Amino acid sequence: MTIKETQEKLKRKEISHREMVSSFLSRIKERNEKTNSLLSVFEDVIDKESSVKEDLPLYGAVFVVKDNILIKDERCTSGSKILEHYVAPFDATVIEKIKEGGGVFVGKGNMDEFAMGSSTENSAFGPARNPLDLERVPGGSSGGPAAAVSDGMCNVALGSDTGGSIRQPSAFCGVVGFKPTYGTVSRSGVIAMASSFDQVGPIAKNVEDAELVFKVIHGKDVLDSVTSDLVSKVVKKKIRVGVPKEYFVEGISKDIKETIEGAISKVDASEFEVVEISLPHTEYALPAYEIIMASEVSANMARYDGIRYGLEFGRPAAKSIQDAYLKNRGEGFGKEVKRRVILGTYALSAGYYDAYYVKAQKIRALIAEDFKKAFAKVDVILTPTTPTLPFKIGEKIEDPLSMHLSDIFTVTANLAGLPAITLPCGEKKGLPVGAQILAKRFHEDTLFAVAKKCEKIWK
Ligand code: GLN
Repeated sequence: MTIKETQEKLKRKEISHREMVSSFLSRIKERNEKTNSLLSVFEDVIDKESSVKEDLPLYGAVFVVKDNILIKDERCTSGSKILEHYVAPFDATVIEKIKEGGGVFVGKGNMDEFAMGSSTENSAFGPARNPLDLERVPGGSSGGPAAAVSDGMCNVALGSDTGGSIRQPSAFCGVVGFKPTYGTVSRSGVIAMASSFDQVGPIAKNVEDAELVFKVIHGKDVLDSVTSDLVSKVVKKKIRVGVPKEYFVEGISKDIKETIEGAISKVDASEFEVVEISLPHTEYALPAYEIIMASEVSANMARYDGIRYGLEFGRPAAKSIQDAYLKNRGEGFGKEVKRRVILGTYALSAGYYDAYYVKAQKIRALIAEDFKKAFAKVDVILTPTTPTLPFKIGEKIEDPLSMHLSDIFTVTANLAGLPAITLPCGEKKGLPVGAQILAKRFHEDTLFAVAKKCEKIWK
């Protein structure tokens, strides 16, 4: 059930709030052993839920929260051994807003360590599984939250998206995932991966629910200085949809190409006008993302030194301070995190900074410019969300390069700070295919309006 459907049932008194929450908890009990979607489950929510008021916008919304978002007094691991015993000392701003809005939390979602990955196989607590096919990955890094929504463990979830981590797992699990405009949702209390890209957003059963949650969590926050209240309320009558030709050339599988082309022709037959556009620097997006992301990761991971955060606090049983760092980070971090810290440190080093980091930033500006030019001609852009169908567990884990290619269609929105949503647009071989829609910065209203129409067209 969606949040809206749940609210209606509650209003008609067909079910009590308590019964509803407890039915999600039983579903979790039944399924989590199979999917490993959740890293913690809040059974005691049932004792707290009676305080929730009926007239609140998120009354009836039951959330799973990605385990890199702080909920006061609960464990928050970010999928890492190094934070296995870390308990959050405060609520993230988004959590405060959801609590005030009447939402409740049933658990924390499994994820790739520090949100680095595309399959949830980089979790220190074992991979999550795709509920639609247990042999396959649910995507990542928000694989646990996406799987939980798809599997009926909650009616909505919060994820975070640095290069596609809300959209790619949502596409793999057949649900809706929304990454807001950079700066519209506070990152206070969200464990940082790459700060110039990170955004929190909803994973939901439909576009309407994603919009509802966004309206509650967005807005200026003094604790995150890049946030603003800006939203454009102008939704044009005649919408032009741009399809970038570069997204259909390399790396896209036949299954995805066919399904997306089918979906586009249905949109073309509707009230929307579809036109081909060009985003000429697309082929440089992933390499630029990799360099900037790894650079920011190397800085953000520095706090896990065993003194401020880490396996051992205070004075560790190490011979020297250097030894303490090595021990903590050596044992606490997984392979993928170490790879990115090494790559980022290298890209930022004095001799290579201009050749890599500065160059990547220039490409980032060109990508943003590509979109600016395109949005002078069209209102939204329609693309595939992923280049392939959900892959098998183990298929890509030994090949980081092919894993990173999973993000080829999603990183551009993070590079340019744009809002982007994925929704199911068809099926192939019994597996879901997602379509991505992007809009101008702060034009979430246009994005939701178009996505709701597409949702109807593709049903
Ligand atoms: N899969 C991408 C990566 O590994 C994106 C991660 C994310 O959005 N958190 O970097």
